[in-house]
Amino acid sequence: MTAILLDGKKLSQKIKDSIAEEIKTLTASGKKPPKLATILVGNDPASATYVNMKVKSCHAVGMISEKIELPDTTTTQELLAVIDKLNADPDTHGILLQHPSPPQIDERAAFDRIDLKKDVDGVTTLSFGKLSMGVETYLPCTPYGMVLLLKEYGIDPAGKRAVVVGRSPILGKPMAMLLTEMNATVTLCHSKTKNLPEIVAQADIVVGAVGKPEFIKADWIKPGAVLLDAGYNPGNVGDIEISKAWEKSSHYTPVPGGVGPMTISVLLLQTLYSAKDHFTPPLK
Ligand code: NAP
Repeated sequence: MTAILLDGKKLSQKIKDSIAEEIKTLTASGKKPPKLATILVGNDPASATYVNMKVKSCHAVGMISEKIELPDTTTTQELLAVIDKLNADPDTHGILLQHPSPPQIDERAAFDRIDLKKDVDGVTTLSFGKLSMGVETYLPCTPYGMVLLLKEYGIDPAGKRAVVVGRSPILGKPMAMLLTEMNATVTLCHSKTKNLPEIVAQADIVVGAVGKPEFIKADWIKPGAVLLDAGYNPGNVGDIEISKAWEKSSHYTPVPGGVGPMTISVLLLQTLYSAKDHFTPPLK
């Protein structure tokens, strides 16, 4: 059996093309294009690059972007005031606060200040609660990007054993919830997990969300497993030893070009949903 590459670059472009088409139709009928506001606090070069990529992608699909850059001395109160203003602006459909914020900022308070209807990055506590309850909301972008890849390639997690390695609030934990919603039997692993190789070896679906280069070894992988690698580490490698593991898999995401490109497309997609006044449709 030849392993199938889950082409995130291709799917991401397909999503962006359909968003661009919809925006053309919207604007042709006299409506304003959707608008995404991005907030960057401080001077972290990697964060600035991520924000610029998001702004560029907005323009590429015909969305309006408002780029807000705040000094690294910004207080939590000042940041909350900026978010309040965007929440109140009827022309802003989505708000993205780039992570990480400088240490003096209460980042959770800032995320949670974002109006649920504008939380197109899926970062608020309320969004996570709704996702966990199976109630419509906006979903965290990278996990939802992985779900869309599974759907595109006709992979149904129902009844499958999924192992998610990493439990961060933006990635591993919501991915475990989404797979549960899709009726997989999920094990969520983290740094205190014992016998990780044995647990991964039972998985029909493995999600790498650790942030450590090639941490999940090829010889842990069960033949025929689906490999989703959200990790992105220096040297263009993910969290799964994909260079060897892909041959054992049924489907795998490459790094780069797998999960990574999906994140921005999902952000744009959810901004479009917000402009159309609805949440992300149910998974099933
Ligand atoms: P994070 O916040 O640092 O979380 C890492 C998780 O891995 C934690 O839950 C941690 O467990 C777990 N972990 C660490 N060492 C482990 C070990 N030895 N065994 C098992 N689990 C272990 O990272 P993150 O923000 O989720 O990001 C993870 C990776 O995804 C990074 O490479 C990042 O660049 C990438 N990422 C990509 C995108 C994208 O757009 N494609 C978006 C977000 C993140 P504890 O909870 O016990 O500490």
